[in-house]
Amino acid sequence: KYPLAITDTVLRKCKCRVCLGYDIACAFCATLRNSSLGQAVKEQGLRCLVGAFHGYAHNRACQLEFHPRNIEGCGYEDFEGCERVFSASNHLAPSTRHASHTIGWRRSTHFPRTPPHDFCASGDFLITKHTAAVKTIRKNHRIVAYGLQKYQLDGDALLELQGQEYRYLKSLKKRPQSELDQIEYLKALNEFWLAEHELQATPREFLRVDTANISSGKPPNIPSGKLPNAPSGKPRKAKKTLSTWEQIYAKVQRAEKKVEAVEARLSIEQRWAENDEAYQEALKKSREHAYRKALDNLERLMVQRLFELEKSTMRATGMPHALSQILS
Ligand SMILES: [Zn+2]
Repeated sequence: KYPLAITDTVLRKCKCRVCLGYDIACAFCATLRNSSLGQAVKEQGLRCLVGAFHGYAHNRACQLEFHPRNIEGCGYEDFEGCERVFSASNHLAPSTRHASHTIGWRRSTHFPRTPPHDFCASGDFLITKHTAAVKTIRKNHRIVAYGLQKYQLDGDALLELQGQEYRYLKSLKKRPQSELDQIEYLKALNEFWLAEHELQATPREFLRVDTANISSGKPPNIPSGKLPNAPSGKPRKAKKTLSTWEQIYAKVQRAEKKVEAVEARLSIEQRWAENDEAYQEALKKSREHAYRKALDNLERLMVQRLFELEKSTMRATGMPHALSQILS
Protein backbone atom coordinates (compact mmCIF):
# COMPACT_ATOMS: atom_id res chain seq x y z
CA LYS A 1 0.00 0.00 0.00
CA TYR A 2 2.91 2.39 0.67
CA PRO A 3 4.24 2.26 -2.91
CA LEU A 4 0.68 2.91 -4.13
CA ALA A 5 0.32 5.91 -1.81
CA ILE A 6 3.71 7.28 -2.96
CA THR A 7 2.76 6.82 -6.62
CA ASP A 8 -0.55 8.58 -6.00
CA THR A 9 1.28 11.56 -4.50
CA VAL A 10 3.81 11.64 -7.35
CA LEU A 11 0.99 11.57 -9.92
CA ARG A 12 -0.85 14.41 -8.21
CA LYS A 13 2.21 16.59 -7.65
CA CYS A 14 3.89 16.05 -11.02
CA LYS A 15 1.62 16.90 -13.89
CA CYS A 16 4.02 15.49 -16.45
CA ARG A 17 5.36 12.15 -17.66
CA VAL A 18 7.19 10.42 -14.84
CA CYS A 19 9.64 7.51 -14.64
CA LEU A 20 9.28 5.67 -11.36
CA GLY A 21 12.21 3.53 -10.20
CA TYR A 22 11.42 0.68 -7.83
CA ASP A 23 13.30 -2.52 -6.93
CA ILE A 24 10.39 -4.69 -8.03
CA ALA A 25 8.79 -2.35 -10.56
CA CYS A 26 8.22 -5.28 -12.94
CA ALA A 27 5.70 -6.78 -10.50
CA PHE A 28 4.49 -3.44 -9.17
CA CYS A 29 3.60 -2.33 -12.69
CA ALA A 30 0.83 -4.96 -12.85
CA THR A 31 -0.38 -4.00 -9.35
CA LEU A 32 -0.59 -0.38 -10.46
CA ARG A 33 -2.53 -1.23 -13.59
CA ASN A 34 -5.11 -3.19 -11.58
CA SER A 35 -5.40 -0.61 -8.81
CA SER A 36 -7.62 2.47 -8.62
CA LEU A 37 -4.61 4.44 -9.94
CA GLY A 38 -4.62 2.45 -13.20
CA GLN A 39 -6.47 5.11 -15.20
CA ALA A 40 -4.29 7.99 -13.93
CA VAL A 41 -1.14 5.97 -14.66
CA LYS A 42 -2.32 5.41 -18.21
CA GLU A 43 -3.38 8.99 -18.82
CA GLN A 44 -0.19 10.48 -17.39
CA GLY A 45 2.05 7.93 -19.10
CA LEU A 46 3.85 6.88 -15.92
CA ARG A 47 6.71 4.49 -16.72
CA CYS A 48 7.90 1.94 -14.16
CA LEU A 49 11.59 0.98 -14.07
CA VAL A 50 13.73 -1.29 -11.96
CA GLY A 51 16.77 0.45 -10.48
CA ALA A 52 20.00 -0.17 -12.42
CA PHE A 53 21.64 -1.95 -9.48
CA HIS A 54 18.65 -4.19 -8.72
CA GLY A 55 17.92 -4.74 -12.39
CA TYR A 56 20.92 -7.03 -12.79
CA ALA A 57 19.36 -9.45 -10.31
CA HIS A 58 16.23 -9.73 -12.50
CA ASN A 59 16.02 -11.99 -15.50
CA ARG A 60 16.97 -10.88 -18.99
CA ALA A 61 13.36 -10.52 -20.22
CA CYS A 62 12.64 -8.23 -17.26
CA GLN A 63 15.80 -6.22 -17.95
CA LEU A 64 14.80 -5.68 -21.58
CA GLU A 65 11.52 -4.21 -20.45
CA PHE A 66 12.40 -2.43 -17.21
CA HIS A 67 16.15 -1.84 -16.91
CA PRO A 68 17.01 1.88 -17.30
CA ARG A 69 20.01 1.04 -19.50
CA ASN A 70 17.55 -0.33 -22.07
CA ILE A 71 15.03 2.50 -21.86
CA GLU A 72 15.50 5.50 -24.06
CA GLY A 73 15.55 8.77 -22.17
CA CYS A 74 16.88 7.45 -18.85
CA GLY A 75 20.43 8.53 -19.59
CA TYR A 76 22.83 7.90 -16.74
CA GLU A 77 20.17 7.93 -14.01
CA ASP A 78 20.28 4.68 -12.04
CA PHE A 79 17.09 5.19 -9.96
CA GLU A 80 18.90 4.04 -6.82
CA GLY A 81 18.67 7.26 -4.77
CA CYS A 82 16.95 5.50 -1.86
CA GLU A 83 19.70 2.89 -1.83
CA ARG A 84 22.27 5.59 -1.04
CA VAL A 85 20.15 6.83 1.86
CA PHE A 86 19.76 3.26 3.17
CA SER A 87 23.49 2.74 2.80
CA ALA A 88 24.14 5.78 4.97
CA SER A 89 21.64 4.47 7.55
CA ASN A 90 23.55 1.15 7.82
CA HIS A 91 26.05 2.89 10.08
CA LEU A 92 23.29 3.26 12.65
CA ALA A 93 22.77 -0.50 12.93
CA PRO A 94 25.72 -1.41 15.23
CA SER A 95 24.85 1.33 17.72
CA THR A 96 21.08 0.77 17.81
CA ARG A 97 20.83 -3.02 17.54
CA HIS A 98 21.51 -3.66 21.22
CA ALA A 99 20.38 -0.26 22.51
CA SER A 100 17.22 0.24 24.55
CA HIS A 101 14.11 1.44 22.78
CA THR A 102 14.55 5.02 23.96
CA ILE A 103 18.22 5.27 23.09
CA GLY A 104 17.56 3.59 19.75
CA TRP A 105 14.79 6.05 18.96
CA ARG A 106 16.98 9.03 19.93
CA ARG A 107 19.81 7.86 17.73
CA SER A 108 17.50 7.14 14.84
CA THR A 109 16.31 10.74 14.94
CA HIS A 110 19.84 11.62 13.82
CA PHE A 111 19.30 9.48 10.77
CA PRO A 112 20.99 11.31 7.92
CA ARG A 113 18.27 13.37 6.40
CA THR A 114 19.19 14.93 3.10
CA PRO A 115 21.18 18.00 4.14
CA PRO A 116 20.26 21.33 2.57
CA HIS A 117 23.52 21.52 0.68
CA ASP A 118 22.54 18.30 -1.17
CA PHE A 119 19.55 20.10 -2.66
CA CYS A 120 21.80 22.98 -3.61
CA ALA A 121 24.19 20.52 -5.22
CA SER A 122 21.52 19.16 -7.58
CA GLY A 123 22.72 21.58 -10.27
CA ASP A 124 26.26 20.20 -9.94
CA PHE A 125 24.84 16.71 -10.07
CA LEU A 126 23.05 17.40 -13.36
CA ILE A 127 26.02 19.08 -15.02
CA THR A 128 28.35 16.26 -13.92
CA LYS A 129 26.03 13.64 -15.41
CA HIS A 130 25.63 15.64 -18.60
CA THR A 131 29.39 16.12 -19.00
CA ALA A 132 30.02 12.42 -18.42
CA ALA A 133 27.37 11.51 -21.00
CA VAL A 134 28.85 13.84 -23.61
CA LYS A 135 32.32 12.39 -22.94
CA THR A 136 31.07 8.82 -23.36
CA ILE A 137 29.29 9.69 -26.61
CA ARG A 138 32.43 11.30 -28.00
CA LYS A 139 34.61 8.41 -26.88
CA ASN A 140 32.41 5.59 -28.19
CA HIS A 141 30.87 7.23 -31.19
CA ARG A 142 33.40 5.87 -33.68
CA ILE A 143 33.37 2.37 -32.24
CA VAL A 144 29.57 2.22 -32.41
CA ALA A 145 29.57 3.61 -35.95
CA TYR A 146 32.16 1.03 -37.00
CA GLY A 147 30.12 -1.83 -35.45
CA LEU A 148 26.89 -0.65 -37.11
CA GLN A 149 28.62 -0.45 -40.48
CA LYS A 150 30.30 -3.82 -40.10
CA TYR A 151 27.08 -5.64 -39.22
CA GLN A 152 24.95 -3.47 -41.52
CA LEU A 153 22.71 -2.25 -38.76
CA ASP A 154 21.18 1.02 -37.68
CA GLY A 155 19.33 2.30 -34.61
CA ASP A 156 15.97 0.90 -35.73
CA ALA A 157 17.50 -2.49 -36.50
CA LEU A 158 19.03 -2.61 -33.01
CA LEU A 159 15.64 -1.85 -31.47
CA GLU A 160 14.07 -4.55 -33.63
CA LEU A 161 16.71 -7.06 -32.45
CA GLN A 162 15.97 -6.11 -28.86
CA GLY A 163 12.25 -6.62 -29.53
CA GLN A 164 12.96 -10.03 -31.10
CA GLU A 165 15.01 -11.09 -28.08
CA TYR A 166 12.22 -9.96 -25.75
CA ARG A 167 9.54 -11.87 -27.71
CA TYR A 168 11.74 -14.97 -27.85
CA LEU A 169 12.37 -14.94 -24.09
CA LYS A 170 8.68 -14.37 -23.39
CA SER A 171 7.81 -17.38 -25.57
CA LEU A 172 10.08 -19.52 -23.35
CA LYS A 173 8.21 -18.52 -20.22
CA LYS A 174 5.70 -21.29 -20.74
CA ARG A 175 6.38 -24.62 -22.41
CA PRO A 176 4.69 -25.02 -25.82
CA GLN A 177 1.12 -26.32 -25.55
CA SER A 178 1.91 -29.29 -27.83
CA GLU A 179 4.63 -30.40 -25.40
CA LEU A 180 2.34 -30.02 -22.39
CA ASP A 181 -0.34 -32.07 -24.22
CA GLN A 182 2.15 -34.88 -24.89
CA ILE A 183 3.22 -34.90 -21.25
CA GLU A 184 -0.43 -35.02 -20.17
CA TYR A 185 -1.11 -37.97 -22.51
CA LEU A 186 1.97 -39.78 -21.24
CA LYS A 187 0.84 -39.29 -17.65
CA ALA A 188 -2.69 -40.53 -18.43
CA LEU A 189 -1.29 -43.59 -20.23
CA ASN A 190 1.05 -44.44 -17.35
CA GLU A 191 -1.79 -44.15 -14.85
CA PHE A 192 -3.94 -46.43 -17.01
CA TRP A 193 -1.22 -49.06 -17.36
CA LEU A 194 -0.47 -48.93 -13.66
CA ALA A 195 -4.15 -49.41 -12.80
CA GLU A 196 -4.34 -52.34 -15.25
CA HIS A 197 -1.28 -53.90 -13.69
CA GLU A 198 -2.82 -53.49 -10.25
CA LEU A 199 -6.01 -55.15 -11.48
CA GLN A 200 -4.06 -58.10 -12.84
CA ALA A 201 -2.24 -58.51 -9.54
CA THR A 202 -5.45 -58.48 -7.47
CA PRO A 203 -6.36 -61.96 -6.16
CA ARG A 204 -9.38 -63.48 -7.87
CA GLU A 205 -9.81 -66.75 -6.09
CA PHE A 206 -13.21 -65.71 -4.73
CA LEU A 207 -14.49 -64.36 -8.02
CA ARG A 208 -15.19 -67.52 -9.93
CA VAL A 209 -18.91 -67.05 -10.35
CA ASP A 210 -18.69 -65.23 -13.61
CA THR A 211 -15.30 -66.23 -15.00
CA ALA A 212 -16.27 -65.35 -18.54
CA ASN A 213 -16.84 -61.74 -17.64
CA ILE A 214 -13.75 -61.46 -15.48
CA SER A 215 -11.43 -62.91 -18.09
CA SER A 216 -12.75 -60.42 -20.62
CA GLY A 217 -11.99 -57.62 -18.18
CA LYS A 218 -15.63 -56.93 -17.26
CA PRO A 219 -16.93 -56.87 -13.70
CA PRO A 220 -18.27 -60.17 -12.43
CA ASN A 221 -21.99 -60.62 -12.62
CA ILE A 222 -22.86 -61.33 -9.01
CA PRO A 223 -26.33 -61.26 -7.56
CA SER A 224 -26.51 -58.76 -4.73
CA GLY A 225 -26.12 -60.12 -1.22
CA LYS A 226 -24.60 -63.37 -2.44
CA LEU A 227 -20.87 -63.97 -2.37
CA PRO A 228 -19.18 -66.01 -5.07
CA ASN A 229 -17.57 -69.33 -4.22
CA ALA A 230 -16.48 -68.12 -0.82
CA PRO A 231 -14.85 -70.98 0.96
CA SER A 232 -16.78 -71.83 4.04
CA GLY A 233 -15.57 -69.93 7.06
CA LYS A 234 -14.08 -67.07 5.03
CA PRO A 235 -17.07 -64.95 3.93
CA ARG A 236 -15.52 -61.71 5.22
CA LYS A 237 -12.33 -62.21 3.32
CA ALA A 238 -14.28 -62.97 0.16
CA LYS A 239 -16.36 -59.84 0.55
CA LYS A 240 -13.28 -57.71 1.08
CA THR A 241 -11.53 -59.16 -1.96
CA LEU A 242 -14.54 -58.56 -4.15
CA SER A 243 -14.83 -54.97 -2.93
CA THR A 244 -11.12 -54.34 -3.61
CA TRP A 245 -11.44 -55.80 -7.08
CA GLU A 246 -14.43 -53.59 -7.85
CA GLN A 247 -12.58 -50.47 -6.65
CA ILE A 248 -9.54 -51.20 -8.80
CA TYR A 249 -11.74 -52.06 -11.78
CA ALA A 250 -13.47 -48.65 -11.43
CA LYS A 251 -10.03 -47.04 -11.27
CA VAL A 252 -9.02 -48.74 -14.53
CA GLN A 253 -12.20 -47.52 -16.19
CA ARG A 254 -11.62 -43.94 -15.03
CA ALA A 255 -8.01 -44.04 -16.23
CA GLU A 256 -9.03 -45.44 -19.62
CA LYS A 257 -11.70 -42.77 -20.05
CA LYS A 258 -9.09 -40.12 -19.34
CA VAL A 259 -6.72 -41.64 -21.92
CA GLU A 260 -9.53 -41.76 -24.50
CA ALA A 261 -10.46 -38.14 -23.82
CA VAL A 262 -6.86 -36.98 -24.35
CA GLU A 263 -6.56 -39.14 -27.48
CA ALA A 264 -9.74 -37.59 -28.90
CA ARG A 265 -8.51 -34.07 -28.13
CA LEU A 266 -5.08 -34.65 -29.67
CA SER A 267 -6.47 -36.75 -32.55
CA ILE A 268 -4.29 -39.77 -31.66
CA GLU A 269 -5.68 -42.72 -33.61
CA GLN A 270 -3.20 -45.38 -32.60
CA ARG A 271 -2.57 -45.73 -28.87
CA TRP A 272 1.09 -45.30 -27.94
CA ALA A 273 3.12 -48.30 -26.79
CA GLU A 274 6.23 -48.13 -24.63
CA ASN A 275 8.55 -48.84 -27.55
CA ASP A 276 7.06 -46.16 -29.81
CA GLU A 277 9.35 -43.31 -30.80
CA ALA A 278 6.68 -40.73 -29.87
CA TYR A 279 6.33 -42.27 -26.41
CA GLN A 280 10.09 -42.23 -25.80
CA GLU A 281 10.34 -38.63 -27.02
CA ALA A 282 7.50 -37.53 -24.74
CA LEU A 283 9.09 -39.42 -21.85
CA LYS A 284 12.34 -37.52 -22.38
CA LYS A 285 10.49 -34.19 -22.40
CA SER A 286 8.49 -35.16 -19.34
CA ARG A 287 11.67 -35.99 -17.39
CA GLU A 288 13.28 -32.74 -18.45
CA HIS A 289 10.11 -30.88 -17.41
CA ALA A 290 10.21 -32.54 -13.97
CA TYR A 291 13.93 -31.77 -13.63
CA ARG A 292 13.43 -28.09 -14.44
CA LYS A 293 10.53 -27.83 -12.01
CA ALA A 294 12.71 -29.39 -9.31
CA LEU A 295 15.50 -26.90 -10.12
CA ASP A 296 13.06 -23.98 -9.89
CA ASN A 297 11.84 -25.25 -6.56
CA LEU A 298 15.40 -25.64 -5.30
CA GLU A 299 16.23 -22.09 -6.37
CA ARG A 300 13.10 -20.80 -4.62
CA LEU A 301 14.01 -22.59 -1.41
CA MET A 302 17.59 -21.30 -1.53
CA VAL A 303 16.48 -17.70 -2.02
CA GLN A 304 13.95 -18.14 0.78
CA ARG A 305 16.70 -19.49 3.04
CA LEU A 306 19.01 -16.62 2.14
CA PHE A 307 16.31 -14.15 3.10
CA GLU A 308 15.83 -15.93 6.42
CA LEU A 309 19.56 -15.80 7.08
CA GLU A 310 19.66 -12.18 6.09
CA LYS A 311 16.93 -11.34 8.60
CA SER A 312 18.31 -13.39 11.44
CA THR A 313 21.90 -12.21 11.20
CA MET A 314 21.87 -8.51 10.61
CA ARG A 315 25.14 -7.14 9.35
CA ALA A 316 27.60 -5.45 11.66
CA THR A 317 25.68 -6.32 14.77
CA GLY A 318 28.25 -8.58 16.41
CA MET A 319 26.17 -11.77 16.30
CA PRO A 320 28.36 -14.33 14.55
CA HIS A 321 27.05 -17.14 16.76
CA ALA A 322 23.53 -16.71 15.34
CA LEU A 323 24.72 -17.75 11.87
CA SER A 324 26.51 -20.82 13.15
CA GLN A 325 23.38 -21.81 15.10
CA ILE A 326 21.25 -21.62 11.99
CA LEU A 327 23.73 -23.50 9.84
CA SER A 328 24.22 -26.27 12.41
ZN1 LIG B 1 11.81 -8.16 -12.68
